[in-house]
Amino acid sequence: MSPRLAIATANQHKVDELIAILEPLVPDLRRSDVVTLADFEVPEPVEDAPDFRGNALIKARALTGVAGVACVADDSGLCVDILGGSPGVFSARWAGTHGDDTANLELLLAQLEDVPDEYRSARFTCAAALVTPSGDESVHIGHMYGRLIRQPRGDGGFGYDPIFIPDGYDVTNAELSAADKNAISHRSVAFTGLAPAIAQALR
Ligand code: IMP
Repeated sequence: MSPRLAIATANQHKVDELIAILEPLVPDLRRSDVVTLADFEVPEPVEDAPDFRGNALIKARALTGVAGVACVADDSGLCVDILGGSPGVFSARWAGTHGDDTANLELLLAQLEDVPDEYRSARFTCAAALVTPSGDESVHIGHMYGRLIRQPRGDGGFGYDPIFIPDGYDVTNAELSAADKNAISHRSVAFTGLAPAIAQALR
């Protein structure tokens, strides 16, 4: 069966999460319809846009050109209010090395050491982008609001999850089950918003 949708990531965990979000929302979408970056011999594009929206579009455009089918991509990060929205698009490389989650989290905690509890609000943001082979583009933004604690708690999740408590909860993202986190996550909100455009593109 020929692919109908490409997902612009080689991260299998993210592929599984996005398919789980989209399957109930996009009629007839099956896992076998989906290809990912891992199926193509292309380098990951340089994400040099100044915002999540721009970076998600860079990734989606790059893979659509190669895969020849509609492509979705996302870009996400943590925005801390007292830091004016940083780390933002630098979330994955805040401490200097891309993807060093422990160093990123420790640097952020050190920067916020003297910040009182009432000023530790933050949000995760995700931009979900769809680009079709004919060049139509849609982007939806999702947020998960919460606050940052002082000591990491929990073994689940990744990135900044151990220090982030979502609004309305008293546990960190890393203490939530994957299903419970995914139900309220910035990625889930963004891709739920994008789902009608994806359904339309696959018709
Ligand atoms: P990406 O867009 O998935 O590459 O995420 C960029 C960076 O943002 C990650 O490396 C994490 O540091 C952070 N991030 C994004 N989403 C989450 C999340 O759900 N939990 C924790 N950290 C996240």
